[in-house]
Amino acid sequence: MHSSIDSYGVMGYPVSHSYSPEIHNLFALQTQQKIKYDLLQVSPNELESKISEFKSKGGKGLNITLPHKTEVFKLANQITERASIAGAVNTLTFRNDKVFGDNTDGVGLIRDLSVNLEIPLKNKNILILGAGGATRGIISLILEMKPKSLLIANRTIDKAEVLANQVSHLGQVSTCHLDAIPAFKNYDLIINATSAGIKGENSIYPTGIILNKTYCYDLSYGLKPTPFYEWAVNSGAHQSFMGWGMLVEQAAESFNIWRGIRPNTAPVLKKLITNA
Ligand code: NAP
Repeated sequence: MHSSIDSYGVMGYPVSHSYSPEIHNLFALQTQQKIKYDLLQVSPNELESKISEFKSKGGKGLNITLPHKTEVFKLANQITERASIAGAVNTLTFRNDKVFGDNTDGVGLIRDLSVNLEIPLKNKNILILGAGGATRGIISLILEMKPKSLLIANRTIDKAEVLANQVSHLGQVSTCHLDAIPAFKNYDLIINATSAGIKGENSIYPTGIILNKTYCYDLSYGLKPTPFYEWAVNSGAHQSFMGWGMLVEQAAESFNIWRGIRPNTAPVLKKLITNA
């Protein structure tokens, strides 16, 4: 018999570092939703069977994190356009015996930038460092905000070019190698979507791209300031942020998809950073 408490969880490998249970439990408390949200460590070879098992036991939805975001794409019956462009799914919903796949990373970033931080994007010059999964997840949403220009710089230029071509129907995107970012180009916002520096490698960030009006946003977040965050502060950025807000906002979007209620993210973000 299925439990009367709706069951959710996050599947990843490893997954013990995930803040998702804490975030979703705080959302549930705030919105008075009776849910259960578990941390589910699942290796790649058992992903499909574990998802089936979760669904057959009456589970309502899953967040999917590394390294399964691409693999799980194939297991959904229906995919949203934003997940399709991302080529990755971070939210599964089980409804009427069907599996719906979505990607809430892009919305999460845009809500943090536009609503929480009030950083304007329309008509602005935006530079994204990196062309991996995270950039794929955010690019269509950034183009929807109608920036004046969007440049993607990546170590492997081919990946940036493929992505720019894929979204060309949504807006114009230029590309360049990470080592060849044009300096003094009036960037209003620089988003770091690389995983560089996280393991302590030397900085890869070029000089001459930050002005005193430039906002810098690192998708990565940590207990200590991330290398990009610090570099931006030291380079005289107008303001520099880590991706804690995006983390909470992408979770809020998943919660809204599942429960039909958008939680108030501000107190949850505050509590998360305080407890971290
Ligand atoms: P990914 O798919 O593995 O892509 C990694 C990117 O970093 C690629 O563009 C890669 O370049 C670049 N890179 C890695 N090491 C580098 C180095 N030493 N020098 C230069 N470039 C390097 O990872 P992802 O999923 O896009 O995630 C990127 C970051 O975003 C991660 O730190 C992740 O934690 C963060 N993120 C945060 C949130 C949030 O909610 N705040 C959500 C999603 C992701 P190549 O293409 O040349 O390999």
